[in-house]
Amino acid sequence: MIAIKTTEIEKTAAASVSLPLTDVKIWGRTGAGRSWLGSLVASLPLVLAPLTCASVFITLRAYSGSFSLFAAAVAEEGFWPVYQQHGPQLTAKGAVAVVCYVGLQALLFRFLPGELRTGQYTPAGHLLTYRMNGLSAWTITHLLYFALSWAGVLDPAFIARNWSGLIAAMNIAGLAVSVFAFVKAYVSPTHPDDRKFSGSSVYDFFMGIELNPRLGEMFDLKLFSNGRPGMILWTLINFSNLAYQHQTLGHVEPSLALVTVLQVMYVVDFFVNESWYLGTIDIAHDHYGFYLGWGCFCFLPIMYTVQAQYLGMHPPAAPASYTYLAVVFAAGLVGYAMFRSVNDQKSKARLLGHGCCIWGKPAQYIVAPYRTTDGRAHKSLLLCSGWWGWSRHANYVGDLLLSYSFCALVRSTNAVVWTYAVWMTLCLVHRCMRDEKRLSVKYGAAWTEYCQRVPWRFVPGVW
Ligand code: NDP
Repeated sequence: MIAIKTTEIEKTAAASVSLPLTDVKIWGRTGAGRSWLGSLVASLPLVLAPLTCASVFITLRAYSGSFSLFAAAVAEEGFWPVYQQHGPQLTAKGAVAVVCYVGLQALLFRFLPGELRTGQYTPAGHLLTYRMNGLSAWTITHLLYFALSWAGVLDPAFIARNWSGLIAAMNIAGLAVSVFAFVKAYVSPTHPDDRKFSGSSVYDFFMGIELNPRLGEMFDLKLFSNGRPGMILWTLINFSNLAYQHQTLGHVEPSLALVTVLQVMYVVDFFVNESWYLGTIDIAHDHYGFYLGWGCFCFLPIMYTVQAQYLGMHPPAAPASYTYLAVVFAAGLVGYAMFRSVNDQKSKARLLGHGCCIWGKPAQYIVAPYRTTDGRAHKSLLLCSGWWGWSRHANYVGDLLLSYSFCALVRSTNAVVWTYAVWMTLCLVHRCMRDEKRLSVKYGAAWTEYCQRVPWRFVPGVW
C-alpha cells in the first residue's frame, strides 16, 4: 500500500470545525457579476492567443524571424492569405504522431506508479489525492525518443521537420479538450459545488467552470493537461531542434546548447518537485477551460520553445562571444536558483508548519483562518521569513530572470525571440494581481497584516 504524505493542511484538517454557513465568502475564481462587456473583454485572449501563436509560427518559418517582414506581408496581402500560405497545415503524419503521443502520455499518467500526495482545500472543502509519476513519464518518453532515434526508426529531428503538421494537430487536441471540459462541467461535473459560473458562457469557456475535472477517481484532467503533453513536449522540441541544427549545419551552436540546458533544468525541476505544483495557482485555484487546456496543448509548445525554434531555423551568422554567453547563462542559473529556493521555502513551511527553519532561524508565520463553503473553518500559515519576508512574489522574480536569460542567449534583436519573456512578464504580473485579490477575500485581516509586514510585491523599492 502506498502511504499518502501528511502535510500541514491535513493536520489542520483534523482540527477543522463545522460552522454555520454564514458569512462564507466564495474565494475561488472571480468572474461572477461582470458586465456583458467586461466578460467579453476578459475573454479577448480566446482570439488574441491563437492569433499570436499563428503570427509567431509564420514569422519564424516564412519571414526569417522578423515581425516587420511579417507585418509588411500582412499589410500588403491581408492576414488570411498569409495564414493560408504559411500557417500550420494539418497532415496525416502530424495527426497520427499527436494521437500516439497524447495516448502514450495518458497511459503513463494513468498506470505508472507514484507517491500519492494531497493538494490544497478547494473552496467547497474537497481535498484531492494525486499520483506523482511525472518524472518517470518524462524519463520514459525521452528514453523512448532517443532509443527510436538511435535505432533509426525515428528521425531525431522529426519534430522540427514536421512542426507544421504537429502544431496543427496539437491545436485541434487543445480545442477538443477545452470543449470537452466545458460540456463535462454541465453534464457530468466531478465536484458540482466547486464549479463557478460567471454568467457569460464565453468567459466560462475561456477560464473554465470546473476546478478539478476528473475522469474516474484518479485521472485528473487538469494535472494531466498542465503537466504532461505540453511540458514533456517542451524538452523534446528542444532536442529535436538540436538534432535538426546538427543535421543541417554539421554542429550545434553553443547558444542553442545553453538554452537547452537551462530549459531542461526548468522542466526536470518541475517534475522532480511535482508535489510542489499541487500548491500552485494552476492546480489549487485556476479552473479548467481553454486558458489551461488549449494553453498547455498549443500555446506552450509554440511560445515556450521560441528560442530553440529560432536558433534551429536561423543559426546566428556570427557566433556570440563566450564571455557574453557565460554571463547570460550565469544570470539564468541565478534566476533558477532563486526560483527554486523561494518555492522550496513555501513547500517546506506548508509541509512542516511551526518548527520549520528558514535561513537558519525559526520561520515566522501569520496564522490565516478561512472557511470553505461547506461551512468548515481551516487555517493556513502565511510565511513571513526568508524570501517570503523579502517580497510577496520573489519566485516570480527568479522566474523572470530565467526567462529573460533564455531569450538573451539567442543574442538577437528580433522581437519574436523576446515574446516568451514578454508573455511571462504579463502573465506573472496579472497572476500577482488576481491572486492577491483572491487571497484578500480568502484570508481577510490576516492577508492585510501580511501585506503590511511585507509591503513589496516583486522587488523591494521597485514594486
Ligand atoms: P505561488 O507558487 O507563489 O502560489 C501562490 C499561492 O501560494 C497563493 O495563492 C497562496 O495559496 C500561497 N501563498 C501566498 N503567499 C504565501 C505565503 N506568504 N506563505 C505561504 N503561502 C503563500 O504562485 P504560482 O502558482 O503563480 O507560481 C508557482 C511557480 O510557477 C512560480 O515560481 C512561477 O514563477 C511559476 N510559473 C511559471 C509559469 C510558466 O508558464 N513558466 C506560469 C505561472 C507560474 P493558498 O491559497 O494556499 O494560501
